[in-house]
Amino acid sequence: MAEIQFETKPATAFDLFAGLETTNHEQIVFCQDNATGLKAIIAIHNTVLGPGLGGTRMWYYKSEKDAIKDALRLSRGMTYKASVAGLNLGGAKAVIIGDPTTQKSEALMRKFGRFVNNLNGKYITAEDVGTTTKDMEYVNMETEHVVGLPEIMGGGGDPSPVTAYGTYMGIKASAKKAYGSDSLSGKSAAVMGIGKVGWHLLEYLHEEGVRLYIADINENTLKAASDKFGAIPVSSEDMLSLEVDIFAPCALGGILNETTIPKLKCQIIAGAANNQLEDEVIHGDLIKSMGIVYAPDFVINSGGLINVYSEYNGYVREIAMSQTENIYNTILDINKMADTLNVNNQIAAIKHAEKRINDMMLVKSTY
Ligand code: NAD
Repeated sequence: MAEIQFETKPATAFDLFAGLETTNHEQIVFCQDNATGLKAIIAIHNTVLGPGLGGTRMWYYKSEKDAIKDALRLSRGMTYKASVAGLNLGGAKAVIIGDPTTQKSEALMRKFGRFVNNLNGKYITAEDVGTTTKDMEYVNMETEHVVGLPEIMGGGGDPSPVTAYGTYMGIKASAKKAYGSDSLSGKSAAVMGIGKVGWHLLEYLHEEGVRLYIADINENTLKAASDKFGAIPVSSEDMLSLEVDIFAPCALGGILNETTIPKLKCQIIAGAANNQLEDEVIHGDLIKSMGIVYAPDFVINSGGLINVYSEYNGYVREIAMSQTENIYNTILDINKMADTLNVNNQIAAIKHAEKRINDMMLVKSTY
């Protein structure tokens, strides 16, 4: 059986089928309903490992082209995240075009649920930016193919503590690579974004005796984290040039780019934010050339996905946590692979994910 060929970057020119050929997407579903105003795109990237799981993002996209591109980019990321986490899951993502604050309704979410249901389990949805647990309860009224439900409905609840634990494990593995020991005691860390994940990450780091610097646009959060963990607040701008062991981006994507990377004076970049590198090749290579150990975002933050996947076998948080702990070994493997292949860590992580998919294609070639 021929190997699946993956490109490291989606096509930039907008030519839908050419783009799908480049990224090797399996299926795109356009969902449209006049009565509820639903306009959604479900992008299923790859289902070799299992059904495609990925959240539903609702966003006021400037153009339909932007919405499609986002769905393609995010669904591809889910394929890699699931593969590298060792889950029997493929990659998919849905986007609903519209303003989540004014255009969302029970009817719209339930209609969307019906479209999800029509895919008979090939796509499993969950909440994402612009959608909430409540929205997923509406989706769940029309389909069982939804995860990330509240604990009282048999779901795993808030995945953030699990994501934070995986991030902590990834930081420890990165320290092992950078310093030869995974002890963080006496090290310093700068955490950008003290939200749901960042807060729990501070708990782990504080517990291990890490000297902490924090940045957030929310002054109340900064004060609370400073009081509780003795962390030193700095501006996001100043944080970039701090001389620290670890920089942990836990806010927005795109934080690692040609402007920010040259300012960094850390040994390790390891945080939970999605899509940290503006360009996986150019900026991944730049970080490597500076001798900084980078923990690929979709590996280190996969605890959240592991958590929702656990719902499928009857949710037990301890099981989700113990599977998440394995992020430590995966990060070590990726560092080794990057050294062997002489590529940056993000590219090594992608190759790691692709290898598992291609290996499993061989397993599935007979009944
Ligand atoms: P969140 O919204 O709870 O927290 C984000 C925090 O970042 C907020 O406190 C916000 O004020 C702060 N922030 C925003 N802009 C900032 C800036 N310019 N400088 C400094 N701080 C800024 O989100 P979260 O759930 O903690 O997720 C954090 C990141 O991790 C996101 O990129 C998310 O996609 C990713 N992630 C989260 C999970 C999860 O389980 N929650 C799983 C995988 C990935």
